[in-house]
Amino acid sequence: MADTIFSKIIRGEIPCHKVYEDAQVLAFLDIGPISRGHTLVIPKEAAPTLDQLSEEAGAALGRALPTIAQAVVKATGARAFNVLQNNGPEAHQAVFHVHFHIIPKYEDGSGLGIGWKAGKLDAPHGAALAREILAQF
Ligand code: AMP
Repeated sequence: MADTIFSKIIRGEIPCHKVYEDAQVLAFLDIGPISRGHTLVIPKEAAPTLDQLSEEAGAALGRALPTIAQAVVKATGARAFNVLQNNGPEAHQAVFHVHFHIIPKYEDGSGLGIGWKAGKLDAPHGAALAREILAQF
């Protein structure tokens, strides 16, 4: 895959405000924060989207995310936060190296704004769709 700005950060070629690192995971402050403490958590393995990431790198991210979120919450005093993970340009992805956003949400409303237009899942369509997804494994 093409080199991204996050690969350059992992290699230390461009700087970041690092908040966590282990053998497989790096976390640093987002350069364009939508709230104070907005943090990016990335695997060191370069994959453009989550569905293309190895199980091992995914497991390493899963292990690290709760403790990084805990540190961000403690340091900022935020009482709530969102975790956002975009895949594909239509889904607002701009950097094609897997990353999770940890975005503190504050009482003044700063943080992630979400437009969520809930539909309704009817039982026959739900059953058919679930069967289709199950058949992919
Ligand atoms: P996404 O839209 O999910 O791909 O988000 C990419 C994020 O990467 C944006 O929030 C950017 O502000 C952030 N970003 C881009 N370049 C850098 C950088 N050099 N250091 C820190 N964050 C960055």
